[in-house]
Amino acid sequence: MSTEKSLEWHERAKRVIPGGVSSPVRAFSAVGGTPRYMVKGAGSHVWDVDGNQYIDLVGSWGPMIVGHAHPEVIKAVLETSRDSSSFGAPSPHEVELAEEICNRISVIEKVRFVSSGTEAVMTAVRLSRASTSRDLIVKFIGCYHGHSDALLVQAGSGVITLGLPNSPGVTQGQTQDTITLQYNDAEGLKSLFAERGSDIAAVITEATPANMGVVPPLPGFNKLIADLCHSNGALMILDEVMTGFRISRGGWWESTEPEGWVPDIFTFGKVIGGGYPLAALAGKANIMDLLAPLGSVYQAGTLSGNPVATTAGLATLNLCDDALYAKLDQRANEVGKGISGALTESGIEHSYQSAGNLFSFFFTPHFVNNYEEAKGQDSKKFAKFFHSMLNQGVSLPPSAFEAWFVNGAMSDLDIEKIISAAVISAKVAASS
Ligand SMILES: *Cc1c(COP(=O)(O)O)cnc(C)c1O
Repeated sequence: MSTEKSLEWHERAKRVIPGGVSSPVRAFSAVGGTPRYMVKGAGSHVWDVDGNQYIDLVGSWGPMIVGHAHPEVIKAVLETSRDSSSFGAPSPHEVELAEEICNRISVIEKVRFVSSGTEAVMTAVRLSRASTSRDLIVKFIGCYHGHSDALLVQAGSGVITLGLPNSPGVTQGQTQDTITLQYNDAEGLKSLFAERGSDIAAVITEATPANMGVVPPLPGFNKLIADLCHSNGALMILDEVMTGFRISRGGWWESTEPEGWVPDIFTFGKVIGGGYPLAALAGKANIMDLLAPLGSVYQAGTLSGNPVATTAGLATLNLCDDALYAKLDQRANEVGKGISGALTESGIEHSYQSAGNLFSFFFTPHFVNNYEEAKGQDSKKFAKFFHSMLNQGVSLPPSAFEAWFVNGAMSDLDIEKIISAAVISAKVAASS
């Protein structure tokens, strides 16, 4: 596989873009080597500048749930952009998408659109502080909630991959009101609330963590968070930027709702923009209406609710029906079991973990319940596995701390190719 042109582009990129990338995990720091420069995608495949074809299990880190360049999404985007790409005034598309979100998740009454998951979470935190008149935010180590200052503490994959516990440039002042706990630590959470319950504005959690690899909540953990928050006058922020509209028609909460807990603020991103910059926060009207212009909590954005992005999101959600989710579950299961089988066959100790159609492999013999356990894995072995897969035309997330993403365009042949590549890659990884 020739990668000459990717190498050339990367040299050029490094001269004018820090590390050559617009988002750190793309740089291959965790696995070594040079990222491939992508120029085309269609369905379940992507092509790089050298003309190499890959089965794509990155899916732009979630948004490409129906596959690349889906004709329905392209049609909607072209139609809308012919009539201009932005007005800086309200437009019907955002209303339709907000209605669709409210329809999919019964407890949501209002939605505010922003341009990235980072912004959605940052605004949710501001809203929770304003609504409770308290400062403290509780987050779990290894959960990623975007790169806003207050949340860039012990923050999951991108940061883990680079071995940075926290980021320089974030002042103590900005993080002193953020308390971190290990994920799935019910006792730790209970004692924290016993000590400081009346100071806590919100607990923020990923609906099911998938930014330290996939670490599902232990039974009852999300409900415990909700119950502790609500009995102490705090809010629960459920970050569904990754899981929203991916795990099910609504997301993680919508598919586990029978457990009887309701978060106060949801955050969404990734899938709702269908590959365009779009994210949202959402919840009950009494909280959401604290946002300006109705309330005094300020939030704004030049491109917020952008007509092209909301159209792409709506066209994508229109394709996300029960049949698609059933297919995603099936594909995730086929890839997950197939890879796990290949690793076992070569004697590679690993923990295959899934949450709905999200899954990942920890190169460690034990089931992983939190970041402390996740970081014990053999990332070097993963790097060998990763490169062997890439060279056989299967593009995986370039870090052992990331979820893998299937899409609705994957075929039986794709699955066969992924698994036969994995058999070889597992041998390569095992022999080193
Ligand atoms: C990706 C992600 C974010 C950040 O979203 P961006 O659009 O990259 O800013 C926040 N929370 C979770 C759970 C995510 O997976």
